[in-house]
Amino acid sequence: MAGRIPQPFIDELLGRVDIVDIIDSRVPLKSAGRGEYKACCPFHEEKTPSFTVSTDKQFYHCFGCGEHGTAVGFLMNYAHLSFVEAIEELAAHAGVDIPYEQQTFSPKSSDSDNLLNLLEQANQFFKQQLRDGSALAKQAIEYLKNRGLSGETARDFEIGLAADSWDGLAKALGKDESTFKKLQKAGLVNERDNGGYYDRFRGRIIFPIHDFKGRVVAFGGRVLGEGEPKYLNSPETPVFHKGSELYNLHRARGEIKKSGFALVVEGYMDVIALAQFEINHAVATLGTATTRAHLDRLFRYTDEIVFCFDGDKAGERAAWRALENVLPVISAGRQVKFLFLPQGHDPDSLVQEKGKQDFEKMVAMAAPLSEFLLSNLEKQTDLSHLEGRARLLSLAKPYLNQLKQGPLKQLLLEQLARMAQTDISTTRSQLGRSESKPDQPARRSKATSSTPANLSLIAKAISLIVQYPGLNRVNNKQIQALRDLEINGMDLFVDLSNLLDSNPELNTAALIERYRSTNHHKVLEKLAAQHHLLTDEALISKEFEEILTTLNKQRLDQTRNQLMEKVKSGQMTEEQAANQLKTLHNQRFKSSDI
Ligand SMILES: [Zn+2]
Repeated sequence: MAGRIPQPFIDELLGRVDIVDIIDSRVPLKSAGRGEYKACCPFHEEKTPSFTVSTDKQFYHCFGCGEHGTAVGFLMNYAHLSFVEAIEELAAHAGVDIPYEQQTFSPKSSDSDNLLNLLEQANQFFKQQLRDGSALAKQAIEYLKNRGLSGETARDFEIGLAADSWDGLAKALGKDESTFKKLQKAGLVNERDNGGYYDRFRGRIIFPIHDFKGRVVAFGGRVLGEGEPKYLNSPETPVFHKGSELYNLHRARGEIKKSGFALVVEGYMDVIALAQFEINHAVATLGTATTRAHLDRLFRYTDEIVFCFDGDKAGERAAWRALENVLPVISAGRQVKFLFLPQGHDPDSLVQEKGKQDFEKMVAMAAPLSEFLLSNLEKQTDLSHLEGRARLLSLAKPYLNQLKQGPLKQLLLEQLARMAQTDISTTRSQLGRSESKPDQPARRSKATSSTPANLSLIAKAISLIVQYPGLNRVNNKQIQALRDLEINGMDLFVDLSNLLDSNPELNTAALIERYRSTNHHKVLEKLAAQHHLLTDEALISKEFEEILTTLNKQRLDQTRNQLMEKVKSGQMTEEQAANQLKTLHNQRFKSSDI
């Protein structure tokens, strides 16, 4: 199991990867000169690019909506990766191995490592129970056989069994109170009201749920025989978020790349039944609607997603929710299709009845998103009269407005115009009316970068040192001399300078990432995005030195006031104070003196 990632490795990695490559492979960038790149912002809808990426700073910033960050931040925001996943992605991109610190069995190992360890032990325990020859195990195997599963498929999917007892797992894994607490945190046991713990999964066939790296993070359980609920999943835990995990993604991702599309079904039995028929690119959501995070995950492996829904009302509702989540993330080159199965069928029953070839033929005929969207809107109105056609346009408006500009939007506009029996420019203006202006940022609350003039001096100083870490080399001693000045932000400024003093190689991105887990992180990101309008290095150092000089004057004023107070309160004679002040003034504030 992986341990912690060492800080020096992260620093070096951020000095090695280029944020421009990382972003360009996901959001194509155009050069804007001077090491700057531009694109239409992936975080808000716009027609003219205000999303910029800087090679020097290794930082992105959108002047429209104010989103900004490092390559790590981009992967976290755009691809919904965790911090560790983002680092792993960057390391893979740079072709370097992460030197994880070995600590699997040390008490220092992280909380989530502990949970993953316990979940894997539970997985082994459940698998063993399915093979122990008990009456319940026989019943479970009979059930799986009846559903058409081979022993090989059961092995591939690591299917297991939770015996019908209150504390089988708790007894097997719970050594002491601290382990019980962890088992509870992992969603495996619940605490009894009168003390003690009992198993969450009892009398169920167990399907381990892996994250995309293949680590067991949760379980699903299907009741054997009668009983409620029929399907029971692990609760949300520190290592399991059902809104971002997809069942079987770790096994399917290679096949998804190879086949060119991902098949999204509703349940794990569907995935397993399809695999039994050698259809290996299916994943399932885990008792939740498809989320943006799911889609971002899948679009990392393919440009085409086919959603497969049961042909009933519930299936249609689920499909509509998926469509609503898909619209904002559809971009040029990405395709989403919807397949509705015949009434009364799910993928499991259908593939069993029709076989692989026929199933694949149906998948190939899945309706493109545009068709599904328009036919559904059409059902809600009557196109035979004028009012109905006008209503079509107003129904379509909120959906079209979520789409990015591109071929799909154009195609939908053309089709809508035909359906409404009007021309495209009328349609466009109908849809455009009273919508938020096209280039308005989606998130108004996020402040765009203010002009540096609005910043306090210390904020300007921090902003400059974060963007030009090299400034610390020349000015380190002056900065340290300011440490007594009692103003907000001075501690952070001095801290940054110390950090750079011992790690002079840190670039802007690495510097910001050092503060990720602190409450300074947001501020630093914001200050890194400040535009200084100074392009010349000499001007930048001059500006920085002027700020330091002004701050030093403030420090002298502060000291003078403190001395006056001491004289007033009789702690010091006037003469002593004057002498101290003289000494301070004589300490000229020039780098040449240091
Ligand atoms: Zn933006």
